[in-house]
Amino acid sequence: MYGMQGKLLVVDLAAKTAEVRAVREATLKKYKGIDALAEKFLKNDDIVIMTGSLTGLLGPCTNRYGIYCGKGKNAPKGSLAGFFGAELKLCGYDGMIIRGKAKSPVYITIQDAEIKIRSASALAGKNVDAKTAAIAGKFPVKAGVLVIGPAAEKGCEFAVVMGDRLYSGPSGSGAAFAAKNLVGIVANGSGVIETAEPDKYWDLAMAARKKAAQSKFAIALGSADAKVSRAAAENLQARPLAGYRNLERRLDWDKEEPVSVVRRRGCYSCAIGCRKQYKIEIGKYKGVVESPAPEFAVVFEDECLVKDTGALLRAYELCRKNGMDPAECAAFAGKALRKARCTGNAKAMLDAVKDAVSGGKRTKPSAAFGYGFAAVRNQEALDLAMDRGMCPFAAVSLNASELKALTAAAEGKE
Ligand code: SF4
Repeated sequence: MYGMQGKLLVVDLAAKTAEVRAVREATLKKYKGIDALAEKFLKNDDIVIMTGSLTGLLGPCTNRYGIYCGKGKNAPKGSLAGFFGAELKLCGYDGMIIRGKAKSPVYITIQDAEIKIRSASALAGKNVDAKTAAIAGKFPVKAGVLVIGPAAEKGCEFAVVMGDRLYSGPSGSGAAFAAKNLVGIVANGSGVIETAEPDKYWDLAMAARKKAAQSKFAIALGSADAKVSRAAAENLQARPLAGYRNLERRLDWDKEEPVSVVRRRGCYSCAIGCRKQYKIEIGKYKGVVESPAPEFAVVFEDECLVKDTGALLRAYELCRKNGMDPAECAAFAGKALRKARCTGNAKAMLDAVKDAVSGGKRTKPSAAFGYGFAAVRNQEALDLAMDRGMCPFAAVSLNASELKALTAAAEGKE
């Protein structure tokens, strides 16, 4: 099927082997999309990493991929943005199946057809940034990298795999990697992905990129200018869920709080660039934090009732560096603060986040964690785009017929 490579990489950590498995055209057509294809190949306690037909193409934010850790109702599964999925696909694989447990900590390197399983013993205890640098050090900067942090190694239940230093995998995925003694994976591909109608796909993709980049939603997400953010937020058609009730105020952080944006980042083929590096200008928590969009940091505000922007960004930064799910970590910290009757205390919140690294237990987050896309009239089309590998922040700006036409130009007819 066009848009896919027709191959999976199967790595057995116990046997220290890596082999390529062909996927039949009929299977790709029957199990279209990240979710269906991943579930098709998921067995026992295997980890499956899967891309969709848009992942790795040059399109509007076409970089999404899924991580599935074992079978079962509560098994960690979910999709994330970044570079890893696109690079894996450019190496020639639609996905990976990882089975078995290594005898000691290892990481996997994938450079097109060259696969290696290497010792990661020297990386034990290092944070996400240090592990990413060590694993990806000899690869070009475009390489995609997955690593676990200290939280996974120390038994935190909501430890995650971090993609490309910034993007949290599903809650519990870090623990699943650690259970296999798998510390990380790096992928760097030089291949191509064929589309069914290359010229048509290119025209539709470039038009979609332009539309996504110029949408009010994208401007609100990506802007480092508070005035632009406010104007966009006022017109924003996205309906904040419970966890986003202060969205407009958050978009104004640059203006109202002593926090400035140092730089913006984008994932593979991103048309928006919503990820920001912040500088906390004054106060106890000043310094630069490699935090994603502020709306993610404020899950700590919702759970712990802390108002200090610097402390909230620091809490998120601790999650990122240690590899923990921020929503669950915020719920864990909120529970600890309520028990100690010190809700609203920034220092107690940060101490609770540090405690979570080695003792984090699952607590259901009370705040909804996501956007309500009122702007999308066709939720089905948005789901389709995400399941094929497009970031929802781009997909939300496109209408159903645009999304369907783009997918059809990539995949071809039924
Ligand atoms: S909009 Fe944000 S999350 Fe989506 S692809 Fe771009 S940088 Fe990544």
